[in-house]
Amino acid sequence: MHHVDYARDGAAAVLTFSNPPVNSFSHAVRSALLDALDRAAMDDGVRFVVLAGAGSLFSGGADIREFGTPAARAAPQLRDVIAAFEASTKPVIAAIGGMCLGGGFELALGCHYRVARADARVGLPEVTLGLLPGAGGTQRLPRLVGVETALNMILSGDRVPARDLAKTALFDRVVDGDPVRAAIEFAGSAPGSLVPRRVSELALVEPNLEALADFALMTVKARAPLALAPQRCIECVKAAAKPFSEGSAIERRLFLELMQSPESMGLRHSFFAERASAKVADIPESTPLRPLTKAAVIGAGTMGGGIAICFLNAGIPTWLLEADQAALDRGVTRIKGIYDAQVKKGKLTVVERDKRMGMLLPVLQYDAVGSADIVIEAVFERMDVKLAVFAELDRVMKPGAILATNTSTLDVNAIARSTKRPADVLGTHFFSPANVMRLLEIVRGTETAKDVLATALALGKTLRKVSVVSGVCDGFIGNRMLEHYTKQANYLVEEGASPRQIDAAMEAFGFAMGPFKVGDLAGNDIGWNVRKRRRAEKPGYKFPTLPDKLCELGRFGQKAGAGWYEYPDGRKPLPSKVVDELIAEHRRGLGITPRKIDDAEIVDRLVYALVNVGACILDEGIAARSSDIDVVYLTGYGFPAMRGGPMFHADAVGLPLVHRRMREFARNPHGDPEFWKPAALIERLVASGGSFATAPPSAANESGQKPAEKVGVAA
Ligand code: NAD
Repeated sequence: MHHVDYARDGAAAVLTFSNPPVNSFSHAVRSALLDALDRAAMDDGVRFVVLAGAGSLFSGGADIREFGTPAARAAPQLRDVIAAFEASTKPVIAAIGGMCLGGGFELALGCHYRVARADARVGLPEVTLGLLPGAGGTQRLPRLVGVETALNMILSGDRVPARDLAKTALFDRVVDGDPVRAAIEFAGSAPGSLVPRRVSELALVEPNLEALADFALMTVKARAPLALAPQRCIECVKAAAKPFSEGSAIERRLFLELMQSPESMGLRHSFFAERASAKVADIPESTPLRPLTKAAVIGAGTMGGGIAICFLNAGIPTWLLEADQAALDRGVTRIKGIYDAQVKKGKLTVVERDKRMGMLLPVLQYDAVGSADIVIEAVFERMDVKLAVFAELDRVMKPGAILATNTSTLDVNAIARSTKRPADVLGTHFFSPANVMRLLEIVRGTETAKDVLATALALGKTLRKVSVVSGVCDGFIGNRMLEHYTKQANYLVEEGASPRQIDAAMEAFGFAMGPFKVGDLAGNDIGWNVRKRRRAEKPGYKFPTLPDKLCELGRFGQKAGAGWYEYPDGRKPLPSKVVDELIAEHRRGLGITPRKIDDAEIVDRLVYALVNVGACILDEGIAARSSDIDVVYLTGYGFPAMRGGPMFHADAVGLPLVHRRMREFARNPHGDPEFWKPAALIERLVASGGSFATAPPSAANESGQKPAEKVGVAA
C-alpha cells in the first residue's frame, strides 16, 4: 500500500501522506514518513521539504484502530518520526489544509515552518480521552502561541481555525488557497534564509507562568475534581519552561501514567463504544436504505417539538400534526421560541432560523402527511391513544413509509401488529430535550424489516445522534434500568439516607446530578404515572410508595416549585422540611429505625442496581453488547464518562467483587432479596472468570434471530 507519495517540485520534495479516512499515523505510515524523509535528505536537488496530508485534511492523529495492538508500540513511534523531521538538516514546511489534530498537529509542530489554509482546524483533543498530548504537543505549542492560549487549547481539546491563530508564531503564513502551493511560494520568497528552525530550541518566556498555571488548575479542579488528565496537562505546560529534553521527559512520564489511569480507560472505552453501537450484526453496511427526504411528526408537545427541530436542523422538511389548532399553535410557538433563543445567543442567524421554520409544515389532517418517508409518533404515553394514531397512519401513509413511535415504555410489537405493515414499524426513542440529547434508542420490533432498521440507523447519523439498538421490553434499555436505580435510591431513603446525601454521593461519583434532583427536573409525575400503570398491570409489583406520597402532595419537582427539594427561586434546590417529615412518617409506618448509611454503600447499591438489570438485558439479547448499555447510560442518563458506563465499571471493579456485594445487600434486613439476586449472566461469568466485555453474545442474538420479545421488568 502506498502511504507516502514523494514528488519533486523544483527544489521542493513534497511528501504527501495518506491513510483514509483521516490520514492517521498507523505503523506503516510512520515508517513510510521516515523513508520519505531520508530520500529527501539524499536527493541532491532538494533544498526543502513540504509535508502535507492527502485529500482535504492534514491528519486526524493517532490510528485508533491500532490502539491496544502491538503495532501501536512498534518503532518508529510517532514521537521518533517527529524528532526526525525536526532534526532534518533540510528545512521542512508543514502545509496544513483541513483538520490537523492530535498527533497530526504535534507532527506539524515538529516541522520548521507551518503554512495553513485559513479554515484549517488545529487542536489537541487528547484530554477528551483522559490523556495528554504525548508527542511533544505540551512542550512545543506553548513556545509558539504562549502559555495561556496553549492551556486553553490543550484543556478544551477544541479545534481552532487557523485564521484565529494567524497572528501567533504558530503559522508563518495563513492563506486562502492550496497550502502546498503556498508553502512552496513561501520557501521561494525567502531564498537563502530558509534554514531549519526548531521549536524545541526556543525558550519559553512567560513571567506569569505560575499564576496562569495556578488559575488553570483551580478552574479544572472546580469543573471536574476527579479528572486527572487536565491536571497533568497543566503540569506538562508548566514543564515547558524547562529545557526541552527535561520537559519532554516529564510529558512522557505523565502520558504513560495517564494511559494506565482508570479515567482514560473509561473515556477510551466510551469513545469506542459509541463507534460500535450503530453496528448491528445482521445489518451489513450494504443493506439498501429507504428514502429519507420528508418527515412527519405526530404530536407537537415536548418531544414532538424537539424531534421536529432535529429534522429541520438536518434540512429535512417536516409536517407537524396535532389534535387541534390550539395545541398545534402552542407547538409551533415553542419551536420558534427555541430557535429565537439560539438567535439571541448568536448561535443561529435570522436567515437560517427563517429557513428552518420555513421547512416546518403544521397540519391538522392525517391525509396531509401521507407522502412522508418517515413519521414519528410522539403523542401521550397511552396505548389506546397510540393505537388510534397508528390506525390513521396505516390508512394514509404511502407504501414503504417508516412508521416510528417515540414511546418510552409501551410494547412496540403490539403497536406494529395493530397495523397491516408491522415490518415498517419500529421505535425511535429520543431523550428530552430531543434537539439537545445525543442518544437515540432505536427499538427493533420482532417483525421490523432489516432495511427499516438500517434506515433508522442512517437517520440517527443524519440527525447527529448516537444510536443504540434495543429489543422490545418494558422501558427498553435505558428506562428499564432507570427504574431499578430509582427504586434502590428510594429503598436507601427508607433505610436512613436522605435524598440530599444520596444526590451528593452520586455527584461525587461523577454524575452531574443525583437521582432526586433528576426526578425534580424531569417531573416526578412521569415515574408516578408509570408506576400506576405497572401496579394495575402486575399484581405483586414492588416499588417503595414514598415517591407516590410525594406526588400526592403535588410535589412534581421544579415545574411545581417543590419536589424532593424546595425551589423558592426557580431552579436552585434547597432542603425541604416537608419532605424530611414525610420521610420520617413513611419510615415510622414501615417500622424502620433509620441507620447511618455510608456513601460507598449508596454508590454501590445504585450502580450495581443498574448492572444487575443490565446483565439481564444483555442475556435476553435486548442489547447486543455490554458496551451498548454503557452508551445508553453515558449519553442518555449522565453516567460519568470517565467511568466508562455501568457495565464497564463493573468489569473494572471485578465481577466477583460486584457479585459478593450483591449477596451482601441481599442480606440487609430491610432489603429486597429478590432484587439483589445476581442475574444469571453474572453467575455464569463469575463461575467462568469472564467479564461483560468478553461475554459471548446472547443466544437470542447468536442464532441470528431478532431479539426475543420480552415485556416486563426483570428481577
Ligand atoms: P406531551 O404531553 O408534551 O405531548 C404530547 C402531545 O401529543 C400533546 O401536544 C398532545 O396535544 C398531542 N396529542 C395527543 N393525542 C394526539 C393525537 N391523537 N393526535 C395528535 N396529537 C396528539 O408529551 P411528551 O412528553 O412530548 O411525550 C410524548 C411521547 O414521548 C410519549 O410517548 C412519551 O412517553 C415519550 N417520551 C417522553 C419523554 C419526556 O421526557 N417527556 C422522553 C422520551 C420519550
